[in-house]
Amino acid sequence: MRQTSRVYLHGYSDASERAMGACLYIRAIGGCGNTSSHLLCAKSKTVPIGNGRTTLPRLELCAAVTLSRLIANVMKANPIYFHEVRAFSDSTVALAWIHGGASRWKTFVANRVAEITTILPAINWHHVDRHSNPADVISRGALPEQLINNSLWWHGPGWIKSLNTDEVTLTCALDATQQRQVEREQRSTAVACLVVYENQFIDDMLARYYPNLQLLLRITARMLRFSHREQRVSNRLMPQEIENAMEVYIRHVQNQHYQQEINRLERKGEVNRSSSLRQLKPYLDERHLLRVGGRLQLSELSYNTKHPILLPRHSILTALILHHEHHEQLHCDPQSLLSAVRRRFWIVGGTSAARKTCRSCVECMRARPTQLHQLMGQIPVDRLAPNPPFSITGINYAKPVNIINRRTRGATSSKGYKALFVCFCTRAVHLEAVSDLSTSAFIAHSPVLAADTDCRAEFTRTTLSTFGEQPESSVNYTNTSTKSNGTIK
Ligand SMILES: [Zn+2]
Repeated sequence: MRQTSRVYLHGYSDASERAMGACLYIRAIGGCGNTSSHLLCAKSKTVPIGNGRTTLPRLELCAAVTLSRLIANVMKANPIYFHEVRAFSDSTVALAWIHGGASRWKTFVANRVAEITTILPAINWHHVDRHSNPADVISRGALPEQLINNSLWWHGPGWIKSLNTDEVTLTCALDATQQRQVEREQRSTAVACLVVYENQFIDDMLARYYPNLQLLLRITARMLRFSHREQRVSNRLMPQEIENAMEVYIRHVQNQHYQQEINRLERKGEVNRSSSLRQLKPYLDERHLLRVGGRLQLSELSYNTKHPILLPRHSILTALILHHEHHEQLHCDPQSLLSAVRRRFWIVGGTSAARKTCRSCVECMRARPTQLHQLMGQIPVDRLAPNPPFSITGINYAKPVNIINRRTRGATSSKGYKALFVCFCTRAVHLEAVSDLSTSAFIAHSPVLAADTDCRAEFTRTTLSTFGEQPESSVNYTNTSTKSNGTIK
């Protein structure tokens, strides 16, 4: 050892269905270039019985674990400095697992690969041909007389003496079957993709300043002023600058949601037949904003009202605009909100968007009065007793209408009324025209009193002044033509 210049440690592992093991060889290169290799130590194990899930590549991996532990023990116990430590296995599948890294594989393989690579890095693991693997003697077994003259066992493979390990890398490609065996142990992983597109900044701005639209537009206008390096006229922002900032966001949202329609409009001047915007006759204005064509071109309304800017229902900008307008209109109801917004924007599906905005407003929710539900009293007996129609009748007069007695010069007008008769029992309604407010006119037009029946009618008076009577008084009368009696209570 004192005459050697370099000392190497080579280990071999192998496994069969019955046994597995590892052996270590110490390889020394002398000062004059002569090489020698001798068996240093070996370890063997029998394969556990009854575990049906253990495959041969897994046993090969277990043999590699045995080899790595043997190397660790030798290096710990032996004071010799090894210039290089290399490990060999004839299993390409086990080597693929070792070179693949522990995190890729399922638990069984991952734990063993992690232990192996902790002791000896994966780059130091190589493939060796099955016939040149001395550990094959351990896995197959050999009689003593076979072992005595076995040069492979005592000195390692023949090429080890001439091997220039600095230049040669021993690898072996996987065939299809081995590739499947390798992938069988691969851990299934969930892949999360983060899609980042170029206009992420605009979306971030919209989300960051929600729901303060004014602040968003002012900050954007400042940024635009800075980016364009415009000559500063005043420190205050001009309305046109705010408008330009708004157009940046409108254009961005329209490109996000209506890209196909915009492309089609640029190419052919009209949207596709299947487009949901077709009924709105959209077009691109000179500032490349998508607007509603509509049918109001001949009206005298403002340009923005005749051709509002199209916005989708589901966008942060739409929510910002609705929220801003809801506060501008002093927390108006959804219908008023939509009407106000439509002076400039046309939100597709705007009704539900406006309703959602009002519903989510905290101030509106706090101010919303709770409805009182009073307990109702007993239903009057007049409405429960089975009687002929209009036996118990409610009466009211509608507001007067002017009646002209003739269409010639000197015609005079008088007030006529519509009498409303409601049957208390059946809820039937009868309308009658009454010439004046007199009792006789009322009796003449009453359907019950004028009927040729012998029933008795009771009237519940709702407007006392209609009949010119006192509240407590009652009127009894007799219809001479029909002999029916009536009572006004
Ligand atoms: Zn509100």
